[in-house]
Amino acid sequence: MSHATGIRRLPPTHNEPIRSYAPGTSERAELKARLNAMEGECPEIPLVIGGKHIRTGDIAKATSPHKHAHVTATWHKARTQDVQAAIVAARDAQRDWASWRWEDRAGVFLKAAELLATTHRATLNAATMLGQSKTAYQAEIDAACELIDFWRFNVQFASELYSEQPISSVGVWNQTDYRGLEGFVYAVTPFNFTAIGGNLPTAPALMGGTVIWKPAASAILSAWHTLQILEAAGLPPGVINFVPGDAVTVSNEVLAHPELAGVHFTGSTAVFNSMWQTIGSNIGRYKSYPRIVGETGGKDFMIAHASADPAAFAVAIVRAGFEYQGQKCSAASRIYVPKSLWNDVRDRTIAMMKDIRMGDVKDFRNFMGAVIDKKAFERISGYLDHAKKNAKILAGGGAKNDTGWFVEPTLVQTDNPSYRLMCEEIFGPVVTVHVYDDAKWHETLKIVDATSPYALTGAVFAREKQAVADAHIALRNAAGNFYVNDKCTGAVVGQQPFGGARASGTNDKAGSKLNLARWVSARTVKETFVPATDHRYPFMDAE
Ligand code: NAD
Repeated sequence: MSHATGIRRLPPTHNEPIRSYAPGTSERAELKARLNAMEGECPEIPLVIGGKHIRTGDIAKATSPHKHAHVTATWHKARTQDVQAAIVAARDAQRDWASWRWEDRAGVFLKAAELLATTHRATLNAATMLGQSKTAYQAEIDAACELIDFWRFNVQFASELYSEQPISSVGVWNQTDYRGLEGFVYAVTPFNFTAIGGNLPTAPALMGGTVIWKPAASAILSAWHTLQILEAAGLPPGVINFVPGDAVTVSNEVLAHPELAGVHFTGSTAVFNSMWQTIGSNIGRYKSYPRIVGETGGKDFMIAHASADPAAFAVAIVRAGFEYQGQKCSAASRIYVPKSLWNDVRDRTIAMMKDIRMGDVKDFRNFMGAVIDKKAFERISGYLDHAKKNAKILAGGGAKNDTGWFVEPTLVQTDNPSYRLMCEEIFGPVVTVHVYDDAKWHETLKIVDATSPYALTGAVFAREKQAVADAHIALRNAAGNFYVNDKCTGAVVGQQPFGGARASGTNDKAGSKLNLARWVSARTVKETFVPATDHRYPFMDAE
């Protein structure tokens, strides 16, 4: 901790530049070397509670989605007593951590960002590729750039939040004290973004809270390496307690604890709903009302107007629909195209799909890897079977699980805009298209708005300004992140704060001041310099 006195200026904040990994670049050579080395490693991942490594002996295996035979790590699962110990550790660390000057807490995360940008970049990218089956580029924009951005920008946003102070009148000094939450925060993270894994526990910690972090089992390798970076950056013991395990076992303990101060969740809507319900039924037990922040599912749309550029729309379908195997919460999943553009859009899309290579992400020529696990493979295969019987498959449709969980990029067409594949979150490389009459533009916008319970991302493609304006009005509540002539994926921290409404979550915009505001409990302080010494007021004086 620094003992410096002064109003400290933060280092400049900028988005981390994306490296290309093109042939001949040094980053490509470094990443390939790390991939080769890490393929031969199989870390045994412990729990980390109060800085201590705990090995419970209840061990699970993690395998590479694209290579069943490759065990990437073994990991110890938490028992109820471990969860209780983690809560005690978080509580014990809280007062001290909250009393650090905020700039000193910030320094930990700024250092973590710098370590990730330099010495640890190839390692976290390689872990994300091997463990979650991301290509080099998909790993780079997630595990490296987005997480670096979260750690750097959150510091800037915290500083902006802390600067919001009340006005004072003569003789009085009013202040806002942005306290970290009293108790502990439960961070539950999904498999699909290493950056979300790193952001959910650290955002409340930056604001002075202490955390129990339950990572997704299928992202355990990258979560473990993320924790190593935070430790190397000087995160004190007990501030973030790493508690992987059976989700229900861990959650039952945590959500029943009186000192639960908040939940920072990203994952499916059903799981978030069940956690909210549990919190509701436990409400009488808590010392404070827990802050409940959850970013959840999506059924993201892209609609083209007749004035759209068909080439741009087709590229958007391929990139937003199939990158990372359609496993981004923002992935394009339902598409609306006017009849006049359809043949062109279809032919261009299918031509690009034929060009897509899928396989082991260590082969950099591949555009796609495998879907995350058996459960996902079976769920997506079920949707493909349904489409074979009830819609038209224009390209793809195959799924193979001999070496890994591979699902072909698939384009489905349906005449029914309420068809199951137009409404439900599939979370795989399956894009369903509805072709509408050009004259039914306004009706189709209404359908887009009403089709799904979610409201995460969406896009409109149009060259006519009036059409863009129509979409803005009709779809205002249909997406928390709305794109005009751009694909509906690829939000960048600081540029497009991310989150949706309706069944897509509480829309607290990860990586923004709005999110950080949830992890503080403001205390208003009024100091009167010269207090009154007479209870009477002048109006009471005699005439
Ligand atoms: P998931 O809901 O299966 O799991 C998320 C986390 O919750 C994991 O850590 C998991 O172990 C835990 N969990 C599972 N069951 C639980 C229970 N009963 N109680 C408590 N915790 C439980 O989601 P996933 O498959 O990891 O991720 C995909 C989902 O996440 C998709 O629905 C996607 O749309 C969503 N997502 C949303 C955003 C967003 O910003 N809106 C971002 C990424 C992912």
